[in-house]
Amino acid sequence: MIVLMISLMQYALAYELDVNTFSNYLDVQNRHLHLEWLLNMDKKYINATSSYRFQVVGRSINKITLDIYKLNIYSTYLQNGLSLPHTIDNPYEDSDQGSRLNIQLDKTYYKGQYIELSIKYSIDSRSRSISFMTKEQTSTKTMPYIFSQCEDANCRALAPLQDTPSVKQTYTATVIFKDTEAADVFMSADESKEEFQVLHRPQDQAGFTWKYKYFIQKVPIPSYLIAIVAGNIKKVPTSTGGRTFLVSEPDKIEAYTAELKEMEQFMQAIEQYIGPYTWGTYTLVIQPASFPIGGMENPLLTFANPTIMTGTGSGLDVTIHEMAHSWFGNTITCVNWANMWINEGFTVFLERKASYFHYQIPDDIKLNAIIGNTSMYQDMLGFGLNSNFSSLHPDTTGLNPDDSFSKIPYEKGYQFLSYLESIVGEADFQSMLRAYLVQYKYQSIDQQEFQNFLLRYLYEKQVDDYSTKRYKILENWNKWVYSPGLPPVILDFSTPKLAEAYDYTNAYITADGQQPTKWQSYFTFLHSQKQVFLEDLFKQAQNNLLKINVINQMDKDLKLTEEKDFELKFRWFRAILTAGDKTRFIQISDFLGSVGRGKMVYPVYRALNQLDHDFAVQTFKTHEAFYHPIAKNNIKNILGLKENIIQ
Ligand SMILES: [Zn+2]
Repeated sequence: MIVLMISLMQYALAYELDVNTFSNYLDVQNRHLHLEWLLNMDKKYINATSSYRFQVVGRSINKITLDIYKLNIYSTYLQNGLSLPHTIDNPYEDSDQGSRLNIQLDKTYYKGQYIELSIKYSIDSRSRSISFMTKEQTSTKTMPYIFSQCEDANCRALAPLQDTPSVKQTYTATVIFKDTEAADVFMSADESKEEFQVLHRPQDQAGFTWKYKYFIQKVPIPSYLIAIVAGNIKKVPTSTGGRTFLVSEPDKIEAYTAELKEMEQFMQAIEQYIGPYTWGTYTLVIQPASFPIGGMENPLLTFANPTIMTGTGSGLDVTIHEMAHSWFGNTITCVNWANMWINEGFTVFLERKASYFHYQIPDDIKLNAIIGNTSMYQDMLGFGLNSNFSSLHPDTTGLNPDDSFSKIPYEKGYQFLSYLESIVGEADFQSMLRAYLVQYKYQSIDQQEFQNFLLRYLYEKQVDDYSTKRYKILENWNKWVYSPGLPPVILDFSTPKLAEAYDYTNAYITADGQQPTKWQSYFTFLHSQKQVFLEDLFKQAQNNLLKINVINQMDKDLKLTEEKDFELKFRWFRAILTAGDKTRFIQISDFLGSVGRGKMVYPVYRALNQLDHDFAVQTFKTHEAFYHPIAKNNIKNILGLKENIIQ
């Protein structure tokens, strides 16, 4: 028994550390957070008080250290009002990781004891978590708009926190806002029927009324899943079933609702593979066009880019992906950012299982895996094939973990799980994943723990050929996780649809400016097949095989410059710019001013910059005010305008 307990303790203690937090989270952990925020959206600042219920988990402590990033800290005090001295330092000078807030406690606290304290602080426009948008940057142009983005380690710009995915806490919040600045506010939590005590009630003034909203998140979550959105927004149900809702600006809400009418069916497809959704309701926020990323899985409040609304349903894989995070990422979480594939690889795996259940098109899953593999390889080339950032275990010591962000944890993670599934067998792998969710519900784990669980599960289930399977699982495990570059085992996702897409590109190139006989096949292609074709076109352009007369004939036939689906449009523009086409600059500039999603904007700026640097800079200057600070900074980097613009 003692031996067993010791070995269990070793498991519990063996989790990897998080190198991207300055908090003393191994000694003390926050159990509950309460936020009181007074929004000044026009003036771009938030007055805040955060209150904590810490529990000592180490032997004893006399100070608490937290992560902060460009927050103004005013005071730290115990719940009984006793002021606590604090200092701020920067363990990594010149690093993007932020600062450390050291709070000296009034006495020594011992294992199991609770410490309740509060911090008064404010957030301003330097925040890299909260985006303060002017009304001109929104669709209705009637009110300012704010939204947060905390993943990876940006929640420290929202509140002083143990900003690590390894600590989970429940949270409540009171948000106070002017009725002239926001029609509504939502957080990654349920709206609370109970009103919380307000610590700092603002004075009423002429011209507007202060409104109050109260939120409660009863499930313990890591800090990167705290989220807020406010502006001229409203919430409506999407499909029958009573579980799924949409939040957006009112001018687009009807069109979006129509396109999202199958949200309940998406949820059921995921549940069919993995088991019931346990979070209650599910709300998708379609953000304004300058939202810099595809989607963010904040629990009860997923954020998504408006480019996923194509009018045809072709962008809805993002919705399924974010929903799938409710199981992988939000219920079981990676213990640090080096293990991000524990979130993303599993989520892509579940997303593709659910897409298969819903759409029943196996070729589409394969083609998406191929497109994902292409993006992953491009990211690997960007980091260098020998860089540890090209592995499933990047080392982000002293860095902002965002620097290692790429498609690698998504696609290499997905391929690794598909490989493991091929060894274990589909049915056993599915039941293993269901058991894994039960075992680690609301916990944060590392990849070694997943391996331990997988082997234990197969052993206890007495699966056929256990020792052979165990051998095969372990044979390449460390190479999959730690070796940079392409995976140790190359999986076969080929399908005749792939060859069909490549043949189509070749037919156009061979026709040399004439219309090829099967030019209309494009209109019967799967959406993923169209992307494969446009990726191939880009490759041909890189090899100087795409001529201007071919581009013109294609555009005449396929109307790609007028394409409304930006997933296709950005690939088209990247290909023709790489081929040296300067005749569509006006349309390209219009495109770059209407979308702020990095995935689509950066590749086009890269290609434009190579072809005509001056025009690329001019285009950027024209649209600069439209972009989100993260996007602005990245575009400046692409264009070689080095000055750091994040204020
Ligand atoms: Zn994801």
